[in-house]
Amino acid sequence: MKQGIHPEYEKTKITCACGNVLEVGSAKKDMSVEICSKCHPFFTGKQKLVDTEGRVDRFRKKFGDYKDKLTKK
Ligand SMILES: [Zn+2]
Repeated sequence: MKQGIHPEYEKTKITCACGNVLEVGSAKKDMSVEICSKCHPFFTGKQKLVDTEGRVDRFRKKFGDYKDKLTKK
């Protein structure tokens, strides 16, 4: 590779709000994110929602009933 013609591409750290630090190669430096593959519910399988109005509970009740009805048949 020729020197000096490539953009700077170094290892940088992405810090997540959950405390996880990812090391990636990027032209940007020291990024921060609010969610990463370690704390996202999709990857962890855990729910980590801020439920201010009980919407999640209502949904779970509805969905739970629905599931019960399906399995009882
Ligand atoms: Zn995270």
